[in-house]
Amino acid sequence: MNFDFGEAPLDSPRKFSAKLRKKNLGLLLLGLSFILLCTSFPVHTQTSILGFTPASAAHQAEIEIKFKAIPSPDEERRQHHIFTAEPHVAGSPRNNELARYIADQWRQEGLEDVVIRRYEVYGSNAKFTSLEMVAPIHYRAILRELPVPGDPDLKNKSISSAWSGMSASGEVTAPLVYAHSGNPEDYELLRKQGIDVKGKVVLVRYSNPYSYRGFKALTAEREGASALLIYSDPAEDGYKKGKVVPSGPWGPEYHIQRGAITYDFMVPGDPLTPGWASIPGAKRIPVNEAVSIPKIMALPLSWHDAKPLLANLDGPLAPDDWQGGLPLKYHLGGKRVRVHVKIEMDNSTQPYYVVEGRIRGAQLPDEWIVLGNHRDAWVFGGVDPSSGTASMMELTRALGKLAKSGMRPRRTVVVCSWDGEEVGLTGSTEWGEQFADELRKKAVAYINVDEATSGPNFHGQAVASLAPMLVETAHMLRDPSGKTLYEAWKESSTRERHESKQPEEVTDSNLADTRIGSGSDHTVFLNFVGMPVLGLGFEGPYGVYHSAYDDFFWMNHFGDPGYRYHTLMSQLWGVLALRLANSDLLPFDFASYASNIRQFVNELSKSKNLRGQQPSVVQPGEAGQPPPLDLKPVLDDIDDFEAAGKRLDDSASRALASGAIDPKLAAIINHGTMQVERNWLNPDGIPGRPWFKHILYGARFTYAHLELPGLTEAVEKQDWPTAQQQAEILHQALAGNTKLLNQLNSALTSETGAGK
Ligand SMILES: [Zn+2]
Repeated sequence: MNFDFGEAPLDSPRKFSAKLRKKNLGLLLLGLSFILLCTSFPVHTQTSILGFTPASAAHQAEIEIKFKAIPSPDEERRQHHIFTAEPHVAGSPRNNELARYIADQWRQEGLEDVVIRRYEVYGSNAKFTSLEMVAPIHYRAILRELPVPGDPDLKNKSISSAWSGMSASGEVTAPLVYAHSGNPEDYELLRKQGIDVKGKVVLVRYSNPYSYRGFKALTAEREGASALLIYSDPAEDGYKKGKVVPSGPWGPEYHIQRGAITYDFMVPGDPLTPGWASIPGAKRIPVNEAVSIPKIMALPLSWHDAKPLLANLDGPLAPDDWQGGLPLKYHLGGKRVRVHVKIEMDNSTQPYYVVEGRIRGAQLPDEWIVLGNHRDAWVFGGVDPSSGTASMMELTRALGKLAKSGMRPRRTVVVCSWDGEEVGLTGSTEWGEQFADELRKKAVAYINVDEATSGPNFHGQAVASLAPMLVETAHMLRDPSGKTLYEAWKESSTRERHESKQPEEVTDSNLADTRIGSGSDHTVFLNFVGMPVLGLGFEGPYGVYHSAYDDFFWMNHFGDPGYRYHTLMSQLWGVLALRLANSDLLPFDFASYASNIRQFVNELSKSKNLRGQQPSVVQPGEAGQPPPLDLKPVLDDIDDFEAAGKRLDDSASRALASGAIDPKLAAIINHGTMQVERNWLNPDGIPGRPWFKHILYGARFTYAHLELPGLTEAVEKQDWPTAQQQAEILHQALAGNTKLLNQLNSALTSETGAGK
């Protein structure tokens, strides 16, 4: 055996969490005896890997060392420069040219079955936007981002002006009202002050507290406003945070956060093909029946353009927490300031292109690990998404090189470059809808990387069953700080929790974020197809999101000047994919899943956030009346699911430790465990949003994660019959998955004698 000793020692298994340590004890002992047998075996090599027999783990370690050595910072930078050279918004000639570039590269790198898939979608590009203050003084908004010294890209003539994807077209002259973040409670406050926004133009800011701009649009539309202006206040992402471009990472005076306002929390993808793919010739619904198309005009603004409006507003002084970072007193307005907004959109049908390639699995070609990143950017996409695209290109180069040298993964790795993510998660949604049946049969998991890096702090998301393997993998990667990625991740998480005053201590079981909302391309795979998903990203101070300043200059000065985090992302993404692709038994941890679900249910039952402050939904009320919804049976189901998960985990560990597993038996177990995530789908979807089928994971309209979405929303509305129905659906799914795990456990123990 030949191992690379050039790499500094990484964590040995003794640093693993108690949980993992316990789980792997058998493996560990076997691994240790293996070390004694192979004198050349370096101590730093991971001798046990979740889902691998000792022999496969040793082979996998060899593959990982070879794989990790391939991505290089210079290549990451070169690719990043290609992708950020020109603005490449969805549907633009440049973005389509980049699709062809990716396809060509992949073919050269040795990827197979490389195809460019075409979807014909409802288009939403701005033809014309303008904003003027017509009273009390005249001001014409420039709606442009001015260049800064040192960054030649900002002089590029094809940088767009300010616009919002999926805005309505129209023209209005009306009084202006300042509505803080534009959340429902903000309008409540305005009403109390006697200010009605009907027919008026509403000015809101990004975003305190955070909410997706599409939710701001929906809220303004429901309130009857005629147009919505969303500006970037320096308190949120500008000079109040720190130095601005070109001296620091925060947003300068002219930065405009573009973005779509699509109601993709109702249904993502092409609004005219909800639930099926917009391939050429597909059936389309009429525009007026499309629930994800907003009916309100919207426009994003820099604070440069918002300042004259705010400075002239009359009416009551805005509350303290509505004041912002500009040197003026914020007023609510409603009378004196009048603005004229005009927006003309081009809604003609546009082709979007998804590039798809794969490394065919050597042994199990019909089991797929799917990886994806979106290609389209609001402007240059320095962080979002081209940092991810550069990482993907280094990842595919490395996978191709390994395959050419005979190290082909056991399962197939499918890689996709999505289009139109920024418009409504469109390319991934259409692709996921097109191949949903095939994915439900073949897909093991989806790993999404949108923004690979805006700084050094790692954030890893995983469906709870894959969280342990993500944490385990982090031990085997080296962070640019010199620590393992695991150590760096734990430190930054601890710091972040401290800063946000979260009392919970960081442990291995809560390090990965298992609460997954929407807002990127994992959505269709989790919520529609029923695939376990992972999401990876490094984050840091980032004030130029969706603006022209998010570019090559920004990345080279602030985000990742040495391209070391890009490189680490390619390594991490690839190692995770290879572990899923090469494992003997897929590394799902269902006991961990169960404890997460229990936490979700407990949080719901304890929620004091429910309207009417009614007693706990599981405890009897104060007067001793029965609870409106009894969640005890669901908690019992979770106990059963957890017990079944533990039994299967134990049997799997024993089977793996005993050496080779019969391939037929492994296939039965793996096909069974792949089914667990699918079983969380309710074909009818969650109430009111039939496209979103997952009963454990969902998103609020703000994009915030929403656990047990159907049940939680029913409880929040105090709609007890629906809540009861949703609890019953949860019960059925838990019981079904418990039965499945028990069957798999029986198969495993009777075949291998691994049971007690
Ligand atoms: Zn993105």
